[in-house]
Amino acid sequence: MAKKTIQDVDVRNKKVLMRVDFNVPLDDQQSITDDTRIRMALPSIQSVLERGGALILMSHLGRPKGAPSDATKFSLRPTAERLGELLGQQVAFATDTIGPDAQAKVQQLTSGNVLVLENVRFDPREQKGDAAFAQVLADMADIYCNDAFGTCHREDASMYAVPKAMGSKPKVVGFLVAKEIEYLSDAIAQPQRPFVAILGGAKVSDKIKVIKNLLGICDKVLIGGAMAYTFSLAQGGKVGKSLVEPDKVELAKELLQAGGQKLVLPVDTHCGDAFDANCQKKVVAAGQIPDDYQGLDIGPETARAFTSIVLGAKTIVWNGPMGVFEMPPFDAGTRAVAEAIAKSDGMSIIGGGDSAAAIQQMGFAQQVSHVSTGGGASLSMLEGQKFASVEILDEA
Ligand code: AMP
Repeated sequence: MAKKTIQDVDVRNKKVLMRVDFNVPLDDQQSITDDTRIRMALPSIQSVLERGGALILMSHLGRPKGAPSDATKFSLRPTAERLGELLGQQVAFATDTIGPDAQAKVQQLTSGNVLVLENVRFDPREQKGDAAFAQVLADMADIYCNDAFGTCHREDASMYAVPKAMGSKPKVVGFLVAKEIEYLSDAIAQPQRPFVAILGGAKVSDKIKVIKNLLGICDKVLIGGAMAYTFSLAQGGKVGKSLVEPDKVELAKELLQAGGQKLVLPVDTHCGDAFDANCQKKVVAAGQIPDDYQGLDIGPETARAFTSIVLGAKTIVWNGPMGVFEMPPFDAGTRAVAEAIAKSDGMSIIGGGDSAAAIQQMGFAQQVSHVSTGGGASLSMLEGQKFASVEILDEA
């Protein structure tokens, strides 16, 4: 069922407490090196301001451990400054999260104003989901909005206890979260077929639940990346010095059994005699990797086979690179898959993290239906999980 969005509530002269994901990378001088996450929250922020609401923004940044230097290292102050530049207006910053400075600045907020609270993780109660801490935040505002997709799989106070503490006051999703749910949950629940998933990356263990869930709903699940070698071991193949998880071989056998024809494994492997772009390279049949070589990418025949399956699909989900895409020429398999997805006229969803980085880096991001902004959160959705942080919000 669809959730109520920020667009659906009257925000005029109201204070909106919005959980955003301003967890941006900072350099040693506390300068933001990539402000994408701030830009992504702009549609929800602008929607409130244009309609005469006031905004209290809260977020975490990094993993502060309580060291004195953390107060500067993980401060949200630079994000308030950058947001001010992007909006072309003054953005206030509270030097604490629920303390006297925050309380005083919340009191002063009027229609069209924006206040950024200091890092919610500076208070250990945030990650404990503490109800009393949450109540103080909830009492600051008339409306709660969750637009922090990257954190939706967590039940931190700002994500779950705060909307709970809002009681009967409106609690809604922002545009970013609404869009992620539309693609990662709704579209997958009623897919156009054939529905094809492509899964890669380093480890099977990270993606067991995703593989199981997608095997249940997809027509084909294509496996690439280093995790293919654990499957190869399960089939009695030779994997040389490849990255494998010997303790997951039994599980890979079970998945092979359960998947049957649905599970499509590589037929060839591009391998090298070292984890190095300048190593000796060879393409060998899958399961035939020489003892002193390691698999670093799917081979060209696999890339062609995967391309052809992807081009025939009506719904495509991709999570995880096909090889060491950061190290050419072992980016070729990932590039082939990215290109096929870009060419396909099916609905295409790119999971967050490395596959999102790869599709952007390779220049195909504009040719897919949706690139998810959340790594862990998008993986959880592909596992079929429901988020308590979203479930608790109002239905449309
Ligand atoms: P993940 O975070 O599980 O999606 O894994 C992404 C990482 O897996 C990337 O950094 C890739 O370089 C790495 N990777 C993919 N294929 C291989 C491989 N064949 N050998 C080693 N690392 C790989």
